[in-house]
Amino acid sequence: MNQPPPRHQNLVYPSGLSPEELAALLSGEPAYRANQAFAWFSRGATSFESMTNMPQSLRERLSGRFGGSIRSSSVEHSLVDEDGSLKLQIRLRDGAAVECVLLEDIEGRKTACLSSQVGCPMGCAFCKTGTLGFLRNLGPDEIVEQFHHLRDMRGFISNVVFMGMGEPLLNLDNVRKAIAILANPDGIGMSLRKITISTSGIVPGILDLARVGPVVRLAVSLTSANPELRTRLMPVNKTWPLAELKAALLEYQRATHDRVTLEMVLIGNVNARGENALELAEWIRPLRVQVNLIAWNPIAGMPFETPDAGQMKQFSEILERSGIVTVQRMSRGRGVMGACGQLGDTLRAKQ
Ligand code: SAH
Ligand code: SF4
Repeated sequence: MNQPPPRHQNLVYPSGLSPEELAALLSGEPAYRANQAFAWFSRGATSFESMTNMPQSLRERLSGRFGGSIRSSSVEHSLVDEDGSLKLQIRLRDGAAVECVLLEDIEGRKTACLSSQVGCPMGCAFCKTGTLGFLRNLGPDEIVEQFHHLRDMRGFISNVVFMGMGEPLLNLDNVRKAIAILANPDGIGMSLRKITISTSGIVPGILDLARVGPVVRLAVSLTSANPELRTRLMPVNKTWPLAELKAALLEYQRATHDRVTLEMVLIGNVNARGENALELAEWIRPLRVQVNLIAWNPIAGMPFETPDAGQMKQFSEILERSGIVTVQRMSRGRGVMGACGQLGDTLRAKQ
């Protein structure tokens, strides 16, 4: 009776369960109990005992089901950058680890940057996570728990971006489940407009998102509009080349009427030249996009350099002259290696 589940068991922990799944788990109980449990779990309850509007016997039943542990993961390390960014290393129940980051902008708005996979299979040449290889997808519980761990330490979080480790559109089912939980008005109730999925350009995933939703914000890591250069930097371009990606984005815009963000990691003397900007402006037509320019964050051992402020400015001016909305994204979290593409540096030794 009530044996704790083995750690490797493929069990979804409470924060990753939908109201319907909780209703199935609590069959035999009055229907409102599942809603109560969902409210507790999805808002990040840290113990079964704290769920005081539920009878003791029911709390014990739930606790027994999950071996006494409400969460599947725990914070192993936390690092704070001088700009206030917080990076957490999260230990998962099978011993693997991921990282997530809380970024705070100058207005104090907090954004959780969440991972969707352990490692990443896409192998982009400029990205730390890409060097780790791919271990496995994260479950919905492991995704939602990253949010809870960050919120436990920093309080209210207004935005979520799937820009941590991994390719969210290769784990779309679990990313969808996590988003449904975060957006459920009986839980955190986060607006879908404040959630961004960032993809390296997985065309079937973009089309699936266009057809089925949820209508979150979509960001695409383009990096280059030149086929050879993009293939060199992002091998995904061999499988889903620029033309197919553009067709998928047009379809996405037809379906959602939403402006897509193109992320351009600019690497000095590689893809940050004026001619690269002109090629991008040409490629974008007739898409409606916003372009985010991100200076490449240095990673030890990679043969790249960060562009200087002049190169960034020139790049953005060329785009703006073509009528393209361009934002130079501030790099936050660099000091804790928690900035874009730097996730994974603390993990190697431990896995
Ligand atoms: N796999 C998804 C989401 C995670 S990567 C994707 O690729 O979109 C999040 C962002 O970090 C991407 O836009 C990626 O291009 C960027 N990035 C990766 N390495 C970087 C680095 N070293 N410096 C700056 N941005 C980087
Ligand atoms: Fe994976 Fe994104 Fe990094 Fe590419 S940039 S290796 S898709 S995490």
